[in-house]
Amino acid sequence: MTLPFLVKTLAIRARSGLRCRGCLGLLDDASEAGLCGQCWGGLQPLPELRCPHCALEHDPEQPCPEPVAWAHGDALWDYHGGRPPLGPLLLPGIKSGEGGWRKALIRRVVEAPLPGFCCSVDLVTSAPATGLRRLLGGFDLAEELARTLARRMDRPWQPLLRKAWGSGRQGARNETERRRLPRKAITLASLLDSQPVVLLVDDVWTTGTTLLRCAQALKAGGAREVRVLSLFRAL
Ligand SMILES: [Zn+2]
Ligand SMILES: [Zn+2]
Repeated sequence: MTLPFLVKTLAIRARSGLRCRGCLGLLDDASEAGLCGQCWGGLQPLPELRCPHCALEHDPEQPCPEPVAWAHGDALWDYHGGRPPLGPLLLPGIKSGEGGWRKALIRRVVEAPLPGFCCSVDLVTSAPATGLRRLLGGFDLAEELARTLARRMDRPWQPLLRKAWGSGRQGARNETERRRLPRKAITLASLLDSQPVVLLVDDVWTTGTTLLRCAQALKAGGAREVRVLSLFRAL
C-alpha cells in the first residue's frame, strides 16, 4: 500500500466516522451513539386525538378497528416518526446487539412523559419472548423496558407470561399470519391471586395480536384490569 493511498484511506475513514448512521449527515452536538440530534428527534409522539384504547386516530363513535382487551392502551412514540423513520432503524439494531442505541433509548424512556394510567397499576409485566430466544439467552427489549418502567413507577416487575415453543417471532411474519396467532400461544406462568391491575409492556405494537393474547391470558388468570403501554405504535 503506497503512502498517499494510505493517507487518503485514513482520511475517508476519519470523515465517515463523523457521519450519522441514520441519515448519513454530519454528526452534531446533540448526537448520541452515532445518531445525530435530528435522527433522535424521530421519537415523535402519536397524534393528539388518538383513541384511548387502540392508540389510532379513528371516529370515536366507531368501534376500534383492531380488537382490544384492555381498559387503556397507548404508546410513547410513532414507530415511523422521523426521516429516515427511527423505529425501523433502532429496533432491529438493538435486537442484534447495538448496545449504544439501547442505552440511549432506555435513557429516553426514563425521561419520557408517561400516560397517567400507568401510575395506578399494581404490577408491571412484559409481552414474552419466544422459548427459543429465552433458551439462547438473547436480549429481550420488552423485558428491559418493563423493568425500567417498573423501577420508575416503583411497582414490581413480574414475568407473568410465557410464549409457547414453536409459536415463532411475530416480527418474522406477514400481517395475515400475525393476526392468526392462536390463543394458546401465550399462557400465564402462574395464576394471579390478588386480582391486580396489570401494566403490560411491549416494544412495538403493530397489529396488536400478541398484546391481545397476552391481555386475554392475564384476564383469564385473574387480573382485574389490563393496561397496555408500548414503546412504539406502528400506525
Ligand atoms: Zn442523522
Ligand atoms: Zn380505538
